[in-house]
Amino acid sequence: MISRSLDSGFSITLFTNGLWPRSVQDFFEKDPRTERVHFIFNVNEPAMQTARESSWQAESLRIAGARGCLGFNIYREEFSLGFIPELIDTFSLQKHVRLGLASPIFGHDNSHVASSRLRRVGKSLVAELQGLERRDILCSFDCGIPLCMFDEEDIGRVFLSTTPWASLCRSGIDVGPDLSVWPCFPLSGILNVPLLDFESRDALDVYFSEKLAPFRKYGCLEECATCKYLLRKQCCGGCLARTLLSLQDGGDPGILQALKRLEGCQS
Ligand code: SF4
Ligand code: SF4
Repeated sequence: MISRSLDSGFSITLFTNGLWPRSVQDFFEKDPRTERVHFIFNVNEPAMQTARESSWQAESLRIAGARGCLGFNIYREEFSLGFIPELIDTFSLQKHVRLGLASPIFGHDNSHVASSRLRRVGKSLVAELQGLERRDILCSFDCGIPLCMFDEEDIGRVFLSTTPWASLCRSGIDVGPDLSVWPCFPLSGILNVPLLDFESRDALDVYFSEKLAPFRKYGCLEECATCKYLLRKQCCGGCLARTLLSLQDGGDPGILQALKRLEGCQS
């Protein structure tokens, strides 16, 4: 698929864990067309993977060099980004880290930090961001980061350690191998339709936007109901999958009905 896309003139950003078979490593090392491929390597803390996985991944990082940057997914309260600078220096990667906050996947179990614990994560994250900034490494945030994850007095520190960001719940569109499409992975269990039912990308965008619009006025926390940042669109209220779960847990009959209708939108 990558080869065909390159032949068609596309540039590609590949999200990967870097555990590629040798044949794939050879392809990215030797094929000149792959200069148009950039990589975001989702890495774990070293203690969370085996020595074999680390050395395998290291070889892919070496091949990527300046074409690669690191991504880190926060899915538990205790974490450290202290291993990042050494990886960047060793493999001459870009001095940039893409940070994601794991979201619940509606309808499935996965590892993520509970919404009620996000402020605690924000506190440790500020210290980690500052540690990276001192090494000239800036971070960018993925979608769904609530504004109140950070204390007001920390917002300046976050601003100086990251590329400009806003608290947004907005994604591209994911397409599965069977040509089913969904707005983003955390919503794939509830809103999942056949691509070929739509005439254009715009039509698909409109469809997803309309289906999700009734839920956007809520946020993932109780405080969102009266929050000026949500009203003024300075905060998205956190990931919509978190919001849907909290609405489901709340048990309001009207909202449960609306959720049921949304769940009817399956391919
Ligand atoms: S629901 Fe919104 S915030 Fe959550 S993953 Fe999808 S686009 Fe991102
Ligand atoms: S809208 Fe909700 S998540 Fe965002 S800042 Fe307000 S209370 Fe926090």
